[in-house]
Amino acid sequence: MPHLYEVEHLHQPDGWLSPGFLEVGDDGTILSVSATCPEGRRATPLAGFGVPGLSNLHSHAFQRALAGRTEFVTGALAEDNLWTWRKEMYRMVDRLTPEAYGAIASLVYLEMLQFGMTAVCEFHYVHHQPGGARHANPAEMSDRLIAAAQDTGLGLTILPVLYAHGGIGKPVEPTQQRFVHSVDEYLTLIDTLRGRRAQNANLNVGLALHSLRAVTPSEAKAALAGMQAMDPAARLHIHVSETTHEVAEVEAGLGARPVQWLLDNVGLDDRWCLVHATHLDASEIAGSAASGAVAGLCPLTEATMGDGFFPLVEYHEAGGAWGIGTDSHYSTSIAEELRILECGKRLELRRRNVIARPGEGAVHTGRVHFDTALAGGEQASGQGGGALVAGRRADLVMLDADCNVLLGHGPATALDAWMLGGTQNPVRDVMVAGSWVIRGGHHAQEARIKADYRAAMAHLTA
Ligand SMILES: [Zn+2]
Repeated sequence: MPHLYEVEHLHQPDGWLSPGFLEVGDDGTILSVSATCPEGRRATPLAGFGVPGLSNLHSHAFQRALAGRTEFVTGALAEDNLWTWRKEMYRMVDRLTPEAYGAIASLVYLEMLQFGMTAVCEFHYVHHQPGGARHANPAEMSDRLIAAAQDTGLGLTILPVLYAHGGIGKPVEPTQQRFVHSVDEYLTLIDTLRGRRAQNANLNVGLALHSLRAVTPSEAKAALAGMQAMDPAARLHIHVSETTHEVAEVEAGLGARPVQWLLDNVGLDDRWCLVHATHLDASEIAGSAASGAVAGLCPLTEATMGDGFFPLVEYHEAGGAWGIGTDSHYSTSIAEELRILECGKRLELRRRNVIARPGEGAVHTGRVHFDTALAGGEQASGQGGGALVAGRRADLVMLDADCNVLLGHGPATALDAWMLGGTQNPVRDVMVAGSWVIRGGHHAQEARIKADYRAAMAHLTA
């Protein structure tokens, strides 16, 4: 039986409906949205603000286990940046078991749901046993992520990562043996995972190239051709231009900056997600914005790594699509990620409301950020949500109007208040594909998921 909800304030692509009547079918898609109750029907009332669930466009779930564990320096350390952090990350990779991988993913996926995300793009590169021996089930680690997503109810776009070299012209390091596939083996894994979709309606499978440092041009082209043959609409993700070191290495090795190289050699379009894209020159900003690709910004992770700052204003004004990922999971809060993006630019540029441009009436920064990240996340994940309109997946996040952050706000300023107006988390209830997975801020399996995570951490840090 379709279910009808009366949402006090319902987010729509062009504004709000107060109230909005949302009809959800048995298959988890939205059947209709209207301003009045369909005749003869009774609706379940939902108080507060109903917004679409956001797709998180970049995650390495296991890195959640490093949060708060790398914030120190030692006497021997001359320089501390992404590359020194990576040494700590690799120490954890050396000890990761499939059980720990799954337990950490369940916790971080639960956290994403609790902050209003209803899907994630998992950039998954720890495939094999330590040393590189294959698991009996070559998809063992991928299957742990799929199980974690099913366990929590989060939509998953799994992006197995092709990783073949330790840098341009460099062999892999011992830890990196866990990441490495031949192109043929990699495409077989993708094919296997595509088969898992029959049992999981909220699973999508895409392709990821780790970076232009870790795959050669011929490997990249072969993998893309193989994916194209399996699914011409598959999402394509790659790490690019996170640090100036990476830009210099690609420029020296391939003769062009990373995004320029992609524009010139593989062509970019709206299937692509350029993760980080922090360091872009003017030609790369214009080219990638015009291509339709999504820039995959991970503001808090990039901040904690000291990577640099994405040219948000220039990219947005060029019409570029962008979204947000929580990457290493220093936070899983949509508000925190968007706040540092906006406020960091305010500090840098010494002005306010950096990307909201005057239109007819007031244009609100919180609304511009949220709607842009919503569209970018849906484009990068291909999950089928991203808007509360007929035909989309019913991913609904109810924000509590009694939370201090939203107290006294109406629809015009609710998203500004969520993003810039306080610290409490207003997410109360979360629906994914028509099913409630978070109620009153909590998940039915929360206690067990936390206990499993604690046990995994005891093992990893023993
Ligand atoms: Zn990443």
